[in-house]
Amino acid sequence: MPVLVMKFGGTSVATLDRIKRVAKRVGVEVAKGYDVIVIVSAMSGKTNELVGWVNETSPLYDAREYDAVVSSGENVTAGLMALTLQEMDIPARSWQGWQVPVLTTSAHASARIEDIPPENIMAKFGEGMRVAVVAGFQGISPEGRITTLGRGGSDTTAVAFAAAFDAVRCDIYTDVDGVYTTDPRVSPKARKLDKIAFEEMLELASLGAKVLQTRSVELAMRYKVKLRVLSSFEEQSDEAGTLVCDEEEIMESNVVAGVAFSRDEAKMTLISVADRPGIASIIFGKLSDAGVNVDMIVQNISEEGRTDMTFSLPTDQVKRAEIAMEELKAEGGLNFGELDVDMDVAKVSVVGIGMRSQSGVAAKMFKVLSDEGVNIKVITTSEIKISVLIDRKYMELAVQALHDAFELEKAA
Ligand code: ADP
Ligand code: ASP
Ligand code: MG
Repeated sequence: MPVLVMKFGGTSVATLDRIKRVAKRVGVEVAKGYDVIVIVSAMSGKTNELVGWVNETSPLYDAREYDAVVSSGENVTAGLMALTLQEMDIPARSWQGWQVPVLTTSAHASARIEDIPPENIMAKFGEGMRVAVVAGFQGISPEGRITTLGRGGSDTTAVAFAAAFDAVRCDIYTDVDGVYTTDPRVSPKARKLDKIAFEEMLELASLGAKVLQTRSVELAMRYKVKLRVLSSFEEQSDEAGTLVCDEEEIMESNVVAGVAFSRDEAKMTLISVADRPGIASIIFGKLSDAGVNVDMIVQNISEEGRTDMTFSLPTDQVKRAEIAMEELKAEGGLNFGELDVDMDVAKVSVVGIGMRSQSGVAAKMFKVLSDEGVNIKVITTSEIKISVLIDRKYMELAVQALHDAFELEKAA
């Protein structure tokens, strides 16, 4: 029988009532004749609570134990979902990642899925089981330890199962009814897109639109998974939601497809570093060794052989970066004046494949921000996106102004 993958996010399984409600959705698909693989997240708020417990117990925690704790939320919902389906007389059982097994790398807290052998689950489908409920977000390392895939990782579990089982489709059920031109929580004018190209979705996700985990989009693109985002709170038809697809499948689209933002950014400046070959390599090599994910970088014009080096990073990595830079100074590897840290910045980006062929998007973006009196601190661009770093207090204003200026509320 054809396999369908259905993934339910945290808000969709937040209570026993909601689990019942989405189990009925699963029942509808089973009745159509699909063997269904259901991927569940932890109940909403649960993973945050577990992460909080780990941090409180051990600030410099052992990542293997972090994974043992934070993966547990999904175990609860997987079991409850299987029980609910059984109560509806639908043959179902739960699977934790290691039982499938979902084989991953050993990069704890951000592991990548290497393989999902389908045999165990297929054998059960062969025996009459109709729904395999799999705990999302988790796997097992070559060392036999539990791993997790990074926050939002259940999306990636879902797409990886769809690829491994050659599913007809991967449906991501969430608390919004599709992918919007921007987060509908920030702009009331945000418009739902019927289709979005993989490349645009990939950029939006990596620039902060958390509706899909970036890696899930990458996998869907690579394995040609038919990926759909839709609401678990509304009655659904086969056309509902947003289809993430190849750009050739989209007839008309705006130059800018969407606006993304990321709130938890920080900016660091090394003031007065020597302007000579090898300096950038020393600084960013050290940061990389310390596990800091540097994003945007600017180097000022130098004066008398010295310059300022500015870069952005996630706020929760600032401490680590500061320690790394002070170490570098103490070791004699780098001489700099001060280390300036700005914790109150945000990144706002516009994304669209139309930018490849149309110029003027950057100029328009900068004009809009200047008209709103928003100062741009750092800029980065690629073929299909422009990102700016601004004061966080202007983030919502900037998102809304850009959404208006590029007329995203109107379809192409
Ligand atoms: P789940 O728990 O189902 O995985 P998430 O909270 O991870 O749900 O993702 C859904 C949320 O993503 C939405 O509630 C919305 O606030 C946010 N979001 C951000 N950008 C977008 C966008 N462009 N389109 C739709 N939702 C978005
Ligand atoms: N429960 C995990 C998280 O909150 C994984 C997920 O929901 O996708 O990040
Ligand atoms: Mg999510």
